[in-house]
Amino acid sequence: MYDIIIIGGGPAGLTAAINGRVRNKSVLVFTNDWKQTYLYQAQRIDNYPGHPGISGAEILDSLVSHAKELGVEIDTKRVLTIMPMDDHFYVSAGARVEQAKTIILAIGTGSHKKLPGEENWIGRGVSYCATCDGLLYRNGKKVTVVGKAADAVEEANFLNEIGCIVTFVSQKPVEGLSDGVKSVIANHLEIKGDGMVQALVADGNEIPSDGIFILRQTVAPNDLLPSLKIEDGGIWVNRRMETSIPRIYAAGDCTGRPLQVIKSMGEGQRAALSAVEDLDHLIN
Ligand SMILES: Cc1cc2nc3c(=O)[nH]c(=O)nc-3n(C[C@H](O)[C@H](O)[C@H](O)COP(=O)(O)OP(=O)(O)OC[C@H]3O[C@@H](n4cnc5c(N)ncnc54)[C@H](O)[C@@H]3O)c2cc1C
Repeated sequence: MYDIIIIGGGPAGLTAAINGRVRNKSVLVFTNDWKQTYLYQAQRIDNYPGHPGISGAEILDSLVSHAKELGVEIDTKRVLTIMPMDDHFYVSAGARVEQAKTIILAIGTGSHKKLPGEENWIGRGVSYCATCDGLLYRNGKKVTVVGKAADAVEEANFLNEIGCIVTFVSQKPVEGLSDGVKSVIANHLEIKGDGMVQALVADGNEIPSDGIFILRQTVAPNDLLPSLKIEDGGIWVNRRMETSIPRIYAAGDCTGRPLQVIKSMGEGQRAALSAVEDLDHLIN
């Protein structure tokens, strides 16, 4: 069991991780690949104190190496659910499930817009993780991947490799799809079925589907934790960066404006210090 699991490896999550390790807590960071973020691509940041003109890549690379040097474990996996238990939490990311005494949410912002009626099809053919659920469809079943995340191409290729018949639907053409994966460009998507999913309707054309994998970069905070309080579009926190759920803290863009690097780092540090104080209080 980890002392702290952090979801999100941007400036907030990595600063929290560094501060948790400095205080000798075991820390695991689950994150999407930070090299795929907009910040990583930013050529020039002019309001990062003491380092005018530093690039986003330089900031993130130095945070990652600092965290790793201190013994932070970083796993590039997307967290899909967090399950609160009496005195700890289960966190599932891809096929990996871990436990922690405290959680820090540092998931940034992103589009969480759902397809019409999407929630009604969860468990009835709609899935958010190819590595977790792909094997259900391996014997020549038809699956459609809705590619909204940077790693969606990889996931589609994995489904193709294990024997699914894969259609990849995206808003723009993508590179890297394996031979055998059909690509469809479409904007308006709907799910069709009768008890179980039967097709994805893409710009009016039906794509027969036994399963639909919707792969987004981020998961809405309330999908991770349905009882989490949201205010003005961000996760509600107090000055200790505590959320409405005990022993879950939040930091960075996901708590709201201003959406800036050093605000995120400051909140990341405060969240880690609060987690450490609460962990020490649990022991004493
Ligand atoms: C083009 C651009 C230029 C910018 N320029 C500046 C600037 O000059 N100065 C400035 O101060 N700010 C700038 N910003 C804003 C700055 O990038 C953000 O404020 C900052 O990155 C927020 O840090 P964060 O850690 O809260 O979130 P993020 O940096 O968004 O990191 C969150 C990470 O968590 C991952 N994640 C989300 N959900 C999950 C999940 N369920 N499982 C696993 N991982 C997950 C995300 O993929 C991401 O890697 C810029 C932003 C952009 C887009």
